[in-house]
Amino acid sequence: MAYVSDRNGERDRGEHERRTRGQGSKYSADDMAGYTLAERPSTWVRTRSHLLKAALHYGIPDDVLVVRGPTQHRAVALTFDDGPDEMTHEFLACLAELGVRATFFVIGQHASEHPDVMLEYVRGGHEVASHGYTHRAFPKLSSGELLDELSHTQALLPPSRSPRPLVRPPQGAKTPRSIAQVAAAGYTTVLWSLDSDDCRTDRAEEVVSRVSPARVSPGEIVLLHEFQKWTLQALPGLVKQLRDDGYSFLTVSELLGR
Ligand SMILES: [Zn+2]
Repeated sequence: MAYVSDRNGERDRGEHERRTRGQGSKYSADDMAGYTLAERPSTWVRTRSHLLKAALHYGIPDDVLVVRGPTQHRAVALTFDDGPDEMTHEFLACLAELGVRATFFVIGQHASEHPDVMLEYVRGGHEVASHGYTHRAFPKLSSGELLDELSHTQALLPPSRSPRPLVRPPQGAKTPRSIAQVAAAGYTTVLWSLDSDDCRTDRAEEVVSRVSPARVSPGEIVLLHEFQKWTLQALPGLVKQLRDDGYSFLTVSELLGR
């Protein structure tokens, strides 16, 4: 069975560790030393990924796999992967100021290290869902390991209002088999329809332009990451331009009408 690593928007765990190791809350230039931005995939890789997502989107019911939301309302869902960490407070403060609720796909291991932050997400009205426990790619796990990743992470999250909790596979990696395993365990796999590319730039204005109204359409699920200062800096401009264009911001479950 083909292994599909969707490198559209997710760096691997090693890159994440380099990025977060030793960081304080100020994120000086020294903090950023040694951090390598993910490489931009080739046009072919991006095209293949888009085609695969389209095939999955139209071929599989949305209680199994979600790539984007319905298009009848002018709404989008901002999603933030890989938290919680030292920057989460700043993201939550920024979103509160903007009056935006979002969906956070958290790594179980990080959640266990920051139990206080889990409550802050809830207090902010945000949705919190699973991004695996160790951020290992699901297709590389045995079915027992995958079930452990899912159950250990879910136990750390606020109770899901949806009968099928949401899971975003680490690194976007999935196979038909891994998607079926996640579904059989009672979860919905959630990918994204628009990559902010915030793993491939460290310029906030580039993130803003990647999520401009010209690129966004109703029902969009936007991939962002929590632990990057440029993503945080991009949020006010990103939100304003979409709001000015008539968009509202929902959690993924709200977007799906769950
Ligand atoms: Zn991730």
